[in-house]
Amino acid sequence: MNPLSQLPSVDRLLSAAAISSLIELHGRAIVTGVAREVLAATREAFRQGAALPAEDELISALIKEVGAGVTAKMTPKLRPVFNLTGTVLHTNLGRAPLPEEAVQALLTAARSPCALEYDIGSGGRGDRDDIVNELLCELTGAEAATVVNNNAAAVFLLLNTLAQKKEVIVSRGELIEIGGAFRVPDIMKRAGAKLVEVGTTNRTHLRDFAENLGPRTAMLMKVHASNYAISGFTHAVPEAELAALAHQHKLPFVIDLGSGTLTDLDRWGLPHEPTPREAIAAGADLVTFSGDKLLGGPQAGMLVGRKDLIAKIKKNPLKRALRVGKLTLAALEAVLALYRDPDRLHQRVTAVRQLTRPEAEMRAAAERLLPALQKALATLPVTVEIVALKSQIGSGSLPVDRLPSAGFAIRPQARSGGVLNRIEASLRGVAYPLRPVIGRIEDGALLLDLRCLDDNDEDEFRNTLGALPAG
Ligand SMILES: *Cc1c(COP(=O)(O)O)cnc(C)c1O
Repeated sequence: MNPLSQLPSVDRLLSAAAISSLIELHGRAIVTGVAREVLAATREAFRQGAALPAEDELISALIKEVGAGVTAKMTPKLRPVFNLTGTVLHTNLGRAPLPEEAVQALLTAARSPCALEYDIGSGGRGDRDDIVNELLCELTGAEAATVVNNNAAAVFLLLNTLAQKKEVIVSRGELIEIGGAFRVPDIMKRAGAKLVEVGTTNRTHLRDFAENLGPRTAMLMKVHASNYAISGFTHAVPEAELAALAHQHKLPFVIDLGSGTLTDLDRWGLPHEPTPREAIAAGADLVTFSGDKLLGGPQAGMLVGRKDLIAKIKKNPLKRALRVGKLTLAALEAVLALYRDPDRLHQRVTAVRQLTRPEAEMRAAAERLLPALQKALATLPVTVEIVALKSQIGSGSLPVDRLPSAGFAIRPQARSGGVLNRIEASLRGVAYPLRPVIGRIEDGALLLDLRCLDDNDEDEFRNTLGALPAG
């Protein structure tokens, strides 16, 4: 008998009781589409000679496949995860988590019309940059500010506005690449500016800049070497000297700070990271920095500095292409407002709280969670122990320093074929709506750093562990 004749029609499959409840939940269109796909794939499998099940078995297998297909399609792609990698500002995991104040502001702006470009006082048109201009000036000491999509966009817009068809002098030691293909020389080229590299990788002097000044020079630029450190026999020109040289020649001096925290992180025992305020005080005419690195806000790129230069940048038609939306501005305004009270930042700005979290807290969390993890892995040939770990800040901030933390090390009992990779994959692979756990494999152990696991999320974490397949 021709097995293809046994395949139900789409309509017959859709009329099965289990499928009706799928339609109720997700709508007819998507379920019909998946049912067609499943039937076509099954028809093809039979043509290729796949074995033929009994009719009722065939129907229940098809129903199951349609269910799985619909569920897979309806699972959001942007799923929340547990970041137990030990890297706090993890670019691939969305960098800084927003503080509650910012989440609330974002929701409010999302739900209702808001005064995005509207001056409530006069009833006239407003400027979206005015939402954060005052805060940014207050927090950095700059005269004016504007905001774009990210720091790469800020650097691009700055160069395109002030240095198109002209030269920009940068030290060779600062021609950096940031993960995700942000390279200073490439951005420079796309912005239409000519890069003039001076000095050597490890040492650059003021005279290197002075000797390369010419009629086509547009600016002197400094790029904060955020994701690596040059140590040993090194020399970089102090910012104040570069600013003085630029100003002697009536040129702007600009700094791409990268991370740009708005407060002194030293007070919480973190290594010093240069601030926009310091850069401005040292004579920088423009400073750019990210919103979602150490600042702990939404993805955004800030440009702060001299009023006339900011005005020019805002007139560039590309500003319109790179501008931020109301959701970003709502979150950014709320986060910047928290910086008005620097004494409580370590409690209120999530990224700062995670970075300054004392090791004892992670250790206590590990003690609380150890039984659940041991239970989840009980049937596997591995050992689980609480260990001291080193977290890192991430996103190219403060590259050398590592923060004392605690968490779990899962090690194979013997050299057992890929058991760690299997556990790592099942922690990642839990079904929606459970939250996948992302750890790291290092030196033959699967490490779970608890720094970024909020105390309030521990039950949800236990749920994920409870769903791991045994063995
Ligand atoms: C991170 C970084 C950038 C890119 O910033 P994004 O906000 O990721 O676009 C540019 N320059 C430096 C020095 C950086 O550290």
